[in-house]
Amino acid sequence: MLDTLHNEIDSAARAVAEDVTAWRHHLHRNPELPNREEETAAFIAQRLDEFGITDITTGIAGHGVVARIRGAGAESERTVLLRADIDALPVKEDSGEDFASDKVDTEYPGGPFPVAHACGHDAHTAMLLGAAKVLHTLRDQFGGEIVLVFQPAEEGAPQGEEGGASRMVEEMEQRGMFTPEPSMAFGIHVAPLPVGAMAYARGIQNAASETVKITITGKQVHGSAPWQGIDPMPAVGDVLSNIGQIYRQVDPEERFSISFGHVVDQGRFNIIGNQVELWGTVRSLRAEVVADINARIERYVEHLAAAHGCTGSVEFFDEVPPVVNEPAWVDAILPVYQRVVGDKPVIEVPSSMGYDDVSEFISRFGGVYALLGGQNFTFTAEGGIEPAEGDDRGFVPNHSPQFYVNDDALAYGVRLHAHVAVDHLLGALSAGE
Ligand SMILES: [Zn+2]
Ligand SMILES: [Zn+2]
Repeated sequence: MLDTLHNEIDSAARAVAEDVTAWRHHLHRNPELPNREEETAAFIAQRLDEFGITDITTGIAGHGVVARIRGAGAESERTVLLRADIDALPVKEDSGEDFASDKVDTEYPGGPFPVAHACGHDAHTAMLLGAAKVLHTLRDQFGGEIVLVFQPAEEGAPQGEEGGASRMVEEMEQRGMFTPEPSMAFGIHVAPLPVGAMAYARGIQNAASETVKITITGKQVHGSAPWQGIDPMPAVGDVLSNIGQIYRQVDPEERFSISFGHVVDQGRFNIIGNQVELWGTVRSLRAEVVADINARIERYVEHLAAAHGCTGSVEFFDEVPPVVNEPAWVDAILPVYQRVVGDKPVIEVPSSMGYDDVSEFISRFGGVYALLGGQNFTFTAEGGIEPAEGDDRGFVPNHSPQFYVNDDALAYGVRLHAHVAVDHLLGALSAGE
Protein backbone atom coordinates (compact mmCIF):
# COMPACT_ATOMS: atom_id res chain seq x y z
CA MET A 1 0.00 0.00 0.00
CA LEU A 2 2.85 2.35 0.89
CA ASP A 3 4.46 1.54 -2.49
CA THR A 4 1.31 2.64 -4.29
CA LEU A 5 1.22 5.87 -2.31
CA HIS A 6 4.90 6.53 -3.10
CA ASN A 7 4.10 6.10 -6.80
CA GLU A 8 1.16 8.48 -6.51
CA ILE A 9 3.39 11.04 -4.78
CA ASP A 10 5.95 10.75 -7.55
CA SER A 11 3.41 11.27 -10.32
CA ALA A 12 1.76 14.16 -8.44
CA ALA A 13 5.25 15.67 -8.02
CA ARG A 14 5.82 15.34 -11.79
CA ALA A 15 2.49 17.05 -12.44
CA VAL A 16 3.42 20.04 -10.25
CA ALA A 17 7.08 20.26 -11.38
CA GLU A 18 6.60 23.05 -13.92
CA ASP A 19 4.70 25.16 -11.40
CA VAL A 20 7.38 24.61 -8.75
CA THR A 21 10.02 25.88 -11.19
CA ALA A 22 7.90 28.92 -12.06
CA TRP A 23 7.32 29.69 -8.34
CA ARG A 24 11.02 29.39 -7.65
CA HIS A 25 11.90 31.76 -10.50
CA HIS A 26 9.33 34.28 -9.25
CA LEU A 27 10.73 34.11 -5.70
CA HIS A 28 14.28 34.27 -7.02
CA ARG A 29 13.55 37.47 -8.98
CA ASN A 30 11.88 39.03 -5.94
CA PRO A 31 14.13 38.24 -2.97
CA GLU A 32 13.55 39.90 0.41
CA LEU A 33 15.99 40.36 3.28
CA PRO A 34 15.46 38.83 6.77
CA ASN A 35 12.35 40.21 8.53
CA ARG A 36 11.19 41.95 5.33
CA GLU A 37 9.68 38.91 3.58
CA GLU A 38 6.29 40.58 3.10
CA GLU A 39 5.66 39.76 -0.58
CA THR A 40 7.24 36.34 -0.24
CA ALA A 41 4.81 35.49 2.59
CA ALA A 42 1.83 36.80 0.61
CA PHE A 43 2.93 34.68 -2.37
CA ILE A 44 3.17 31.57 -0.19
CA ALA A 45 -0.24 32.13 1.41
CA GLN A 46 -1.85 32.68 -2.02
CA ARG A 47 -0.45 29.43 -3.40
CA LEU A 48 -1.54 27.43 -0.31
CA ASP A 49 -5.00 28.93 -0.60
CA GLU A 50 -5.17 28.01 -4.31
CA PHE A 51 -4.34 24.40 -3.43
CA GLY A 52 -7.47 24.38 -1.25
CA ILE A 53 -5.64 24.33 2.08
CA THR A 54 -7.89 26.16 4.56
CA ASP A 55 -5.86 26.26 7.76
CA ILE A 56 -3.31 29.01 6.93
CA THR A 57 -1.90 31.50 9.45
CA THR A 58 0.23 34.44 8.38
CA GLY A 59 2.18 37.04 10.35
CA ILE A 60 3.97 34.65 12.70
CA ALA A 61 7.33 35.95 13.96
CA GLY A 62 7.14 38.73 11.41
CA HIS A 63 6.32 37.24 8.03
CA GLY A 64 6.17 33.54 8.89
CA VAL A 65 3.41 31.40 7.39
CA VAL A 66 2.11 28.17 8.93
CA ALA A 67 -0.39 25.86 7.25
CA ARG A 68 -1.89 22.60 8.44
CA ILE A 69 -3.00 19.61 6.40
CA ARG A 70 -5.13 17.09 8.31
CA GLY A 71 -4.93 13.56 7.00
CA ALA A 72 -8.35 12.11 6.22
CA GLY A 73 -7.22 8.49 6.08
CA ALA A 74 -6.71 5.90 8.81
CA GLU A 75 -6.17 7.37 12.30
CA SER A 76 -2.63 8.36 13.23
CA GLU A 77 -1.34 9.94 16.43
CA ARG A 78 1.55 11.45 14.53
CA THR A 79 2.24 14.99 13.37
CA VAL A 80 5.10 15.88 11.05
CA LEU A 81 6.50 19.41 10.82
CA LEU A 82 8.04 20.35 7.45
CA ARG A 83 10.09 23.52 7.47
CA ALA A 84 11.41 25.83 4.73
CA ASP A 85 13.22 29.13 5.25
CA ILE A 86 12.15 31.99 2.98
CA ASP A 87 14.60 34.92 3.36
CA ALA A 88 17.36 36.16 1.05
CA LEU A 89 20.80 37.74 1.56
CA PRO A 90 22.52 41.10 0.98
CA VAL A 91 24.54 39.74 -1.96
CA LYS A 92 24.91 41.13 -5.46
CA GLU A 93 23.92 38.22 -7.65
CA ASP A 94 26.31 37.10 -10.37
CA SER A 95 24.90 33.63 -11.05
CA GLY A 96 24.43 34.09 -14.80
CA GLU A 97 20.81 32.84 -14.56
CA ASP A 98 18.24 34.59 -16.76
CA PHE A 99 15.99 34.88 -13.68
CA ALA A 100 18.76 36.49 -11.59
CA SER A 101 17.85 39.25 -9.13
CA ASP A 102 18.84 42.86 -9.69
CA LYS A 103 16.94 44.05 -6.64
CA VAL A 104 18.33 46.65 -4.22
CA ASP A 105 16.78 47.25 -0.80
CA THR A 106 17.26 50.95 -0.08
CA GLU A 107 15.41 50.94 3.25
CA TYR A 108 17.17 48.11 5.10
CA PRO A 109 19.14 49.10 8.22
CA GLY A 110 22.79 49.66 7.25
CA GLY A 111 21.87 49.57 3.55
CA PRO A 112 21.18 50.10 0.72
CA PHE A 113 21.92 46.46 -0.10
CA PRO A 114 21.68 44.39 -3.26
CA VAL A 115 19.45 41.38 -2.50
CA ALA A 116 19.69 37.82 -3.82
CA HIS A 117 18.67 34.29 -2.95
CA ALA A 118 22.32 33.32 -2.61
CA CYS A 119 21.53 30.54 -0.11
CA GLY A 120 18.78 28.84 -2.12
CA HIS A 121 15.86 29.61 0.20
CA ASP A 122 13.79 30.34 -2.94
CA ALA A 123 14.26 26.67 -3.85
CA HIS A 124 13.34 25.58 -0.29
CA THR A 125 10.13 27.62 -0.41
CA ALA A 126 9.12 26.35 -3.85
CA MET A 127 9.86 22.72 -2.92
CA LEU A 128 7.73 22.90 0.23
CA LEU A 129 4.90 24.56 -1.72
CA GLY A 130 5.07 21.72 -4.24
CA ALA A 131 4.98 19.15 -1.44
CA ALA A 132 2.03 20.99 0.16
CA LYS A 133 0.06 20.64 -3.05
CA VAL A 134 0.95 16.96 -3.45
CA LEU A 135 0.17 16.11 0.18
CA HIS A 136 -3.09 18.06 0.23
CA THR A 137 -4.25 16.17 -2.88
CA LEU A 138 -3.42 12.81 -1.33
CA ARG A 139 -4.67 13.61 2.20
CA ASP A 140 -7.30 10.85 2.32
CA GLN A 141 -4.51 8.28 2.10
CA PHE A 142 -2.93 9.06 5.49
CA GLY A 143 -3.98 10.13 8.99
CA GLY A 144 -2.32 12.48 11.44
CA GLU A 145 -1.33 16.05 10.65
CA ILE A 146 1.24 17.91 8.58
CA VAL A 147 2.41 21.31 9.77
CA LEU A 148 4.02 23.38 7.01
CA VAL A 149 6.35 26.02 8.41
CA PHE A 150 7.59 28.81 6.12
CA GLN A 151 10.12 30.53 8.35
CA PRO A 152 11.51 34.05 7.92
CA ALA A 153 14.89 35.50 8.96
CA GLU A 154 16.95 32.31 8.98
CA GLU A 155 19.99 34.39 7.99
CA GLY A 156 19.59 36.58 11.10
CA ALA A 157 17.35 39.57 11.79
CA PRO A 158 18.87 43.05 11.47
CA GLN A 159 20.43 44.52 14.59
CA GLY A 160 17.86 45.47 17.20
CA GLU A 161 15.15 43.17 15.79
CA GLU A 162 14.09 39.68 16.77
CA GLY A 163 13.26 36.99 14.30
CA GLY A 164 13.97 33.56 12.91
CA ALA A 165 13.23 30.10 14.22
CA SER A 166 13.47 30.81 17.96
CA ARG A 167 10.84 33.55 17.66
CA MET A 168 8.74 31.33 15.38
CA VAL A 169 8.78 28.49 17.91
CA GLU A 170 7.75 30.89 20.70
CA GLU A 171 4.85 32.35 18.75
CA MET A 172 3.67 28.99 17.42
CA GLU A 173 3.64 27.71 20.99
CA GLN A 174 1.66 30.73 22.23
CA ARG A 175 -0.92 30.15 19.50
CA GLY A 176 -1.32 26.47 20.39
CA MET A 177 0.16 25.34 17.08
CA PHE A 178 2.15 22.55 18.73
CA THR A 179 -1.06 20.79 19.76
CA PRO A 180 -0.91 18.03 18.78
CA GLU A 181 2.84 18.07 19.34
CA PRO A 182 4.91 17.24 16.23
CA SER A 183 6.54 13.81 16.48
CA MET A 184 9.11 14.68 13.81
CA ALA A 185 10.59 17.79 12.17
CA PHE A 186 12.16 17.71 8.73
CA GLY A 187 13.86 20.27 6.53
CA ILE A 188 16.04 20.42 3.44
CA HIS A 189 18.91 22.71 2.54
CA VAL A 190 20.25 22.90 -0.99
CA ALA A 191 24.00 22.43 -1.11
CA PRO A 192 26.90 22.49 -3.57
CA LEU A 193 26.57 18.81 -4.46
CA PRO A 194 25.64 17.22 -7.80
CA VAL A 195 21.94 17.53 -8.70
CA GLY A 196 19.98 14.90 -6.77
CA ALA A 197 22.92 13.85 -4.59
CA MET A 198 22.32 13.99 -0.85
CA ALA A 199 24.55 14.46 2.16
CA TYR A 200 24.03 14.04 5.87
CA ALA A 201 26.09 14.11 9.03
CA ARG A 202 25.49 11.51 11.70
CA GLY A 203 25.20 13.49 14.93
CA ILE A 204 26.09 17.16 14.73
CA GLN A 205 25.44 18.45 11.21
CA ASN A 206 25.71 22.19 11.80
CA ALA A 207 27.64 24.05 14.48
CA ALA A 208 26.25 26.17 17.29
CA SER A 209 26.55 29.85 16.47
CA GLU A 210 26.45 33.22 18.13
CA THR A 211 27.09 36.82 17.16
CA VAL A 212 29.82 38.75 18.97
CA LYS A 213 30.03 42.52 19.26
CA ILE A 214 33.20 44.06 20.73
CA THR A 215 33.20 47.75 21.59
CA ILE A 216 36.45 49.60 22.29
CA THR A 217 36.15 53.15 23.50
CA GLY A 218 38.90 55.80 23.61
CA LYS A 219 38.64 59.55 23.38
CA GLN A 220 38.08 61.38 20.10
CA VAL A 221 40.72 63.87 19.00
CA HIS A 222 42.31 65.56 15.96
CA GLY A 223 44.35 63.13 13.88
CA SER A 224 47.40 65.38 14.12
CA ALA A 225 47.49 65.28 17.94
CA PRO A 226 46.87 61.72 19.18
CA TRP A 227 48.51 62.46 22.54
CA GLN A 228 45.60 64.78 23.38
CA GLY A 229 43.04 61.95 23.14
CA ILE A 230 42.98 58.14 23.39
CA ASP A 231 43.20 56.20 20.13
CA PRO A 232 41.06 53.00 20.21
CA MET A 233 42.58 51.69 16.95
CA PRO A 234 45.80 50.13 18.38
CA ALA A 235 43.69 48.24 20.93
CA VAL A 236 41.50 46.97 18.08
CA GLY A 237 44.60 45.77 16.24
CA ASP A 238 45.88 43.95 19.33
CA VAL A 239 42.51 42.35 19.99
CA LEU A 240 42.21 41.07 16.41
CA SER A 241 45.69 39.61 16.31
CA ASN A 242 45.60 38.10 19.82
CA ILE A 243 42.26 36.37 19.27
CA GLY A 244 44.25 34.05 17.00
CA GLN A 245 46.00 32.79 20.15
CA ILE A 246 42.72 31.20 21.25
CA TYR A 247 43.33 28.52 18.59
CA ARG A 248 46.42 27.51 20.63
CA GLN A 249 44.56 27.59 23.96
CA VAL A 250 41.74 25.19 23.09
CA ASP A 251 42.30 21.49 22.44
CA PRO A 252 42.84 21.07 18.67
CA GLU A 253 40.45 18.08 18.80
CA GLU A 254 37.66 20.61 19.22
CA ARG A 255 36.34 22.15 16.02
CA PHE A 256 35.50 25.83 16.19
CA SER A 257 35.97 29.10 14.34
CA ILE A 258 36.10 32.77 15.32
CA SER A 259 35.75 35.49 12.68
CA PHE A 260 35.28 39.24 12.65
CA GLY A 261 33.96 40.39 9.31
CA HIS A 262 32.70 43.88 10.06
CA VAL A 263 34.39 46.90 11.65
CA VAL A 264 32.54 50.12 12.42
CA ASP A 265 34.65 53.11 13.37
CA GLN A 266 33.83 56.75 13.87
CA GLY A 267 37.01 58.35 12.61
CA ARG A 268 38.26 59.64 9.30
CA PHE A 269 41.75 60.32 7.94
CA ASN A 270 42.17 63.36 10.21
CA ILE A 271 39.98 62.35 13.14
CA ILE A 272 40.81 59.68 15.69
CA GLY A 273 37.34 58.35 16.44
CA ASN A 274 35.91 57.80 19.88
CA GLN A 275 34.83 54.20 19.46
CA VAL A 276 35.26 51.13 17.29
CA GLU A 277 32.88 48.17 17.05
CA LEU A 278 33.93 44.75 15.81
CA TRP A 279 31.19 42.37 14.67
CA GLY A 280 31.86 38.70 14.36
CA THR A 281 30.69 35.16 14.86
CA VAL A 282 31.81 32.20 16.95
CA ARG A 283 30.99 28.67 15.76
CA SER A 284 31.60 25.45 17.61
CA LEU A 285 30.23 21.96 17.77
CA ARG A 286 29.82 22.09 21.57
CA ALA A 287 28.22 24.69 23.85
CA GLU A 288 30.99 24.21 26.47
CA VAL A 289 33.59 25.28 23.92
CA VAL A 290 31.58 28.37 23.00
CA ALA A 291 31.45 29.38 26.70
CA ASP A 292 35.20 28.85 27.04
CA ILE A 293 35.97 30.88 23.88
CA ASN A 294 33.68 33.67 25.07
CA ALA A 295 35.52 33.97 28.39
CA ARG A 296 38.85 34.17 26.52
CA ILE A 297 37.56 36.84 24.12
CA GLU A 298 36.28 38.88 27.09
CA ARG A 299 39.63 38.62 28.85
CA TYR A 300 41.62 39.79 25.81
CA VAL A 301 39.23 42.68 25.12
CA GLU A 302 39.18 43.94 28.69
CA HIS A 303 42.94 43.80 29.25
CA LEU A 304 44.17 44.81 25.78
CA ALA A 305 41.82 47.79 25.81
CA ALA A 306 43.07 48.75 29.26
CA ALA A 307 46.70 48.42 28.12
CA HIS A 308 46.02 51.23 25.63
CA GLY A 309 44.05 53.34 28.11
CA CYS A 310 40.73 52.41 26.50
CA THR A 311 37.72 50.53 27.81
CA GLY A 312 36.46 47.39 26.13
CA SER A 313 33.23 45.43 26.36
CA VAL A 314 31.83 42.34 24.66
CA GLU A 315 28.25 41.28 23.95
CA PHE A 316 27.11 37.87 22.73
CA PHE A 317 23.70 37.33 21.14
CA ASP A 318 21.66 35.47 18.50
CA GLU A 319 22.68 32.10 19.93
CA VAL A 320 21.60 29.23 17.67
CA PRO A 321 21.91 25.62 18.89
CA PRO A 322 23.67 23.00 16.72
CA VAL A 323 21.68 20.94 14.21
CA VAL A 324 21.85 17.38 15.49
CA ASN A 325 20.78 14.42 13.36
CA GLU A 326 20.39 11.74 16.02
CA PRO A 327 21.92 8.51 14.66
CA ALA A 328 18.64 6.62 15.17
CA TRP A 329 16.84 9.14 12.95
CA VAL A 330 19.63 8.95 10.35
CA ASP A 331 19.39 5.15 10.20
CA ALA A 332 15.63 5.38 9.82
CA ILE A 333 15.64 7.98 7.06
CA LEU A 334 18.52 6.77 4.86
CA PRO A 335 16.33 4.24 2.99
CA VAL A 336 13.87 7.07 2.23
CA TYR A 337 16.67 9.25 0.82
CA GLN A 338 17.94 6.40 -1.33
CA ARG A 339 14.44 5.59 -2.59
CA VAL A 340 13.83 9.22 -3.56
CA VAL A 341 17.16 9.91 -5.31
CA GLY A 342 17.50 6.48 -6.93
CA ASP A 343 21.02 6.05 -8.33
CA LYS A 344 22.33 9.42 -7.10
CA PRO A 345 24.91 9.30 -4.28
CA VAL A 346 23.85 9.65 -0.62
CA ILE A 347 27.02 10.49 1.28
CA GLU A 348 27.98 10.97 4.91
CA VAL A 349 29.83 14.25 5.54
CA PRO A 350 31.59 15.78 8.56
CA SER A 351 29.93 18.44 10.71
CA SER A 352 29.83 21.89 9.14
CA MET A 353 30.75 25.19 10.80
CA GLY A 354 27.73 26.75 9.12
CA TYR A 355 24.64 27.13 11.28
CA ASP A 356 20.96 26.71 10.55
CA ASP A 357 18.24 27.63 13.00
CA VAL A 358 16.16 24.65 11.87
CA SER A 359 17.87 23.28 15.01
CA GLU A 360 15.16 25.02 17.07
CA PHE A 361 12.62 22.60 15.56
CA ILE A 362 14.75 19.45 15.32
CA SER A 363 16.17 19.70 18.84
CA ARG A 364 12.61 20.01 20.16
CA PHE A 365 10.71 17.45 18.10
CA GLY A 366 13.39 15.11 16.77
CA GLY A 367 13.88 14.54 13.07
CA VAL A 368 16.53 15.23 10.46
CA TYR A 369 17.94 18.00 8.30
CA ALA A 370 18.81 16.89 4.78
CA LEU A 371 21.32 18.36 2.34
CA LEU A 372 20.24 18.14 -1.29
CA GLY A 373 22.55 18.81 -4.22
CA GLY A 374 21.61 21.20 -7.00
CA GLN A 375 24.75 21.91 -9.00
CA ASN A 376 26.22 20.87 -12.31
CA PHE A 377 29.23 18.73 -11.45
CA THR A 378 30.02 15.11 -10.74
CA PHE A 379 32.41 13.32 -8.41
CA THR A 380 35.42 11.72 -10.06
CA ALA A 381 36.77 8.29 -9.16
CA GLU A 382 39.75 9.99 -7.47
CA GLY A 383 37.45 11.84 -5.08
CA GLY A 384 37.63 15.15 -6.96
CA ILE A 385 34.92 16.95 -8.88
CA GLU A 386 34.45 17.98 -12.49
CA PRO A 387 31.87 20.27 -14.13
CA ALA A 388 28.93 18.55 -15.84
CA GLU A 389 25.96 19.40 -18.07
CA GLY A 390 28.26 21.63 -20.17
CA ASP A 391 28.17 24.15 -17.31
CA ASP A 392 31.60 25.38 -16.25
CA ARG A 393 30.22 27.00 -13.08
CA GLY A 394 30.66 23.60 -11.43
CA PHE A 395 30.96 23.82 -7.64
CA VAL A 396 29.90 27.16 -6.07
CA PRO A 397 29.34 27.48 -2.30
CA ASN A 398 26.23 29.07 -0.71
CA HIS A 399 26.41 32.84 -0.02
CA SER A 400 28.73 33.38 -2.99
CA PRO A 401 27.50 35.88 -5.64
CA GLN A 402 27.86 33.04 -8.19
CA PHE A 403 25.78 30.53 -6.15
CA TYR A 404 23.22 28.71 -8.30
CA VAL A 405 20.71 25.88 -8.05
CA ASN A 406 19.74 23.77 -11.07
CA ASP A 407 15.91 23.59 -11.30
CA ASP A 408 16.18 19.80 -11.70
CA ALA A 409 16.88 19.63 -7.96
CA LEU A 410 13.40 20.92 -7.11
CA ALA A 411 11.48 17.74 -7.93
CA TYR A 412 13.78 15.77 -5.62
CA GLY A 413 12.97 18.20 -2.81
CA VAL A 414 9.20 17.99 -3.40
CA ARG A 415 9.34 14.19 -3.31
CA LEU A 416 11.63 14.13 -0.26
CA HIS A 417 9.23 16.24 1.81
CA ALA A 418 6.24 14.17 0.72
CA HIS A 419 7.88 10.74 1.13
CA VAL A 420 9.20 11.65 4.57
CA ALA A 421 5.81 13.02 5.67
CA VAL A 422 3.70 10.04 4.63
CA ASP A 423 6.25 7.50 5.84
CA HIS A 424 6.28 9.14 9.25
CA LEU A 425 2.49 9.48 9.47
CA LEU A 426 1.94 5.88 8.34
CA GLY A 427 4.36 4.57 10.96
CA ALA A 428 7.17 3.57 8.61
CA LEU A 429 9.69 6.23 9.70
CA SER A 430 10.78 7.24 13.16
CA ALA A 431 13.82 7.00 15.41
CA GLY A 432 14.47 3.47 16.54
CA GLU A 433 12.31 1.69 13.95
ZN1 LIG B 1 22.66 30.90 4.32
ZN1 LIG C 1 20.44 28.89 4.03
